[in-house]
Amino acid sequence: MTYRSPVADILFSLKAVAGLPELIDGKLDGEFDWETIASVISEAGRFATEEIAPLNRTADTAGAAYENGVVTTPPGFADAYRRWAEAGWGGVSAPADFSGMGLPHLVNVACTEIWNGASMAFALCPLLTEGAIGALKTYGSRELLGTYLEAMVSGRWTGTMNLTEPQAGSDLNAVRTRAERADDGTYRLFGQKIFITYGEHDMAENIVHLVLARLPGAPAGTRGLSLFLAPKFLVNPDGTLGARNDVRCASIEHKLGIHGSPTCVMIFGESQGAKAWLVGEENRGLAAMFVMMNAARLAVGTQGVAIAERAYQQALEFSRERRQGRSAKGGDGKGEVGMSPIIEHPDVQRMLMTMKAYAHAARGICHLTAASLDLASHGRTEEERAAGANRAALLTPIAKAFSTLLGDEATSIGVQIHGGMGFIEETGAAQHMRDSRIAAIYEGANGIHGVDLVLRKLPLAGGATARNEVNAIRDVARAVSERGGPAFGATSARLSEAAEALDQATRAMQAWLATDTESALAGASPYLRLFGLTLGGGCLAKAGLAAQALARDGYDSELARVALARFYAAKLLPVAPGLNRIVASGAASLSAYEAVLADGS
Ligand SMILES: Cc1cc2nc3c(=O)[nH]c(=O)nc-3n(C[C@H](O)[C@H](O)[C@H](O)COP(=O)(O)OP(=O)(O)OC[C@H]3O[C@@H](n4cnc5c(N)ncnc54)[C@H](O)[C@@H]3O)c2cc1C
Repeated sequence: MTYRSPVADILFSLKAVAGLPELIDGKLDGEFDWETIASVISEAGRFATEEIAPLNRTADTAGAAYENGVVTTPPGFADAYRRWAEAGWGGVSAPADFSGMGLPHLVNVACTEIWNGASMAFALCPLLTEGAIGALKTYGSRELLGTYLEAMVSGRWTGTMNLTEPQAGSDLNAVRTRAERADDGTYRLFGQKIFITYGEHDMAENIVHLVLARLPGAPAGTRGLSLFLAPKFLVNPDGTLGARNDVRCASIEHKLGIHGSPTCVMIFGESQGAKAWLVGEENRGLAAMFVMMNAARLAVGTQGVAIAERAYQQALEFSRERRQGRSAKGGDGKGEVGMSPIIEHPDVQRMLMTMKAYAHAARGICHLTAASLDLASHGRTEEERAAGANRAALLTPIAKAFSTLLGDEATSIGVQIHGGMGFIEETGAAQHMRDSRIAAIYEGANGIHGVDLVLRKLPLAGGATARNEVNAIRDVARAVSERGGPAFGATSARLSEAAEALDQATRAMQAWLATDTESALAGASPYLRLFGLTLGGGCLAKAGLAAQALARDGYDSELARVALARFYAAKLLPVAPGLNRIVASGAASLSAYEAVLADGS
């Protein structure tokens, strides 16, 4: 199957949904221009299509290998990574002072989709490095920045995120890894971390571990966690690599998917302790780690977009070649007894259009989130920056959980379109489904993001951040009704209904937060889905309106975007009032769970 990075669709979404040209024209503090951005993204697409995507299948079958503490990545990964780093891709949004390109985060998210569409297993290494760069940039001392940042931005050294321990997954209160103060102002780490992505590998000279650990006498729970940097190789004062630190990989996991990405058990401090440096302040580690986690959450949401798109391209190609049954068009006389390509059957068309609509809707949501992050850090006024930060905080759990949910659904539909061949590994459709599955689990399982959305994000700015989002969707529905015309079908009506359902569910949630937390928590995941579904409809309608305007200037080829918005409104958005009803039913139907789930019943 030939996969191509969807550069044109990404550029369209950056323009029409996220408003990047307006952002760089008037709202962001910096020197960027659209032509440079478009050429960077096009080149990323070329690199990913030609150099990374062809490795995806062999990476799945060969996997990462472990022997005596040494991890070998699949054939081609180390070479492709070296070329990727040499081309400067590690520095897309990193500041120019550290040899980065200094481009908006939106561009970075566009590139993240491109790398992950080519190979999720490969792209995880840069994904975590970028998160580590963000945390260091914000909280690292001048000395740490001087020693580590440029090597990480250049891709010579990679980064990891070490949170999880056997007893501490979603709940980091239980982290036990111990840190001790050393006489020279550094620290020593002792403990075991599990599931550490690219904790050990052969693609870079050094690995920079960011580790959550607890100092003696620290308060219990997450308030007693500090963040430390512990490199694989200690760095000499002149920047060269010195002795091996007391940290090693004990084993790697055998997984359902992303076989090319090593998932490591890491042991810190088997003898004298892993030498480490504090990042930020003692006992304030979670705040620093949150910079990394938030970046990684949006990036993982983008993985959902990427894998949905890749599965869609593959299913589309298959559906044009596979012939079964005779469609209403009557077949074209080719193949056995004049059978039609399966793409001519309405049910297959529905499945393909659902996959495509999912990819476009989730992409739009991720782009809106990234645009808010850009405003939060580069907005021209304090007010703009504060509004950007609140919007990014609201949208991040939706971008992560909704996009990865759609990634799972799209890849599963992709298998279905392949029929029996979808279940056979050689076609590759099953790999997308297996690879996709982890994205809804790591970086906070999706259920945790529902809880985060409801408990922490809805109350932002006294509820105004969520209200503004609902109103922005209503504005889009109004614009479709005023300017869209018949080509949009019932888009405006369905989008208005969905916005109404979201508004009602939001009010119910906000009322429960004060009176009935159980009901709020019981509805958290369906509420997140309702929010994502409605926001995604808004994104597609916005793209449709922009496409229609272009068609008036002679770009008729863009009109398919109107049809996609119409399809989403007709076939997917009608679920919104049902989701509102699910939310409204609260916790009552769960109250008998002990009886229902009792053994033997
Ligand atoms: C391939 C892979 C790569 C990973 N990479 C990294 C990495 O690089 N660094 C790192 O630190 N970790 C990493 N992880 C760990 C990952 O982040 C955790 O697996 C994830 O956060 C879930 O934690 P858990 O597995 O302990 O599940 P649990 O916390 O045990 O959760 C199990 C289920 O219970 C639900 N649940 C738990 N608590 C609540 C609650 N309060 N409310 C509602 N539902 C709840 C969850 O949603 C989930 O469905 C990786 C994991 C895998 C499999």
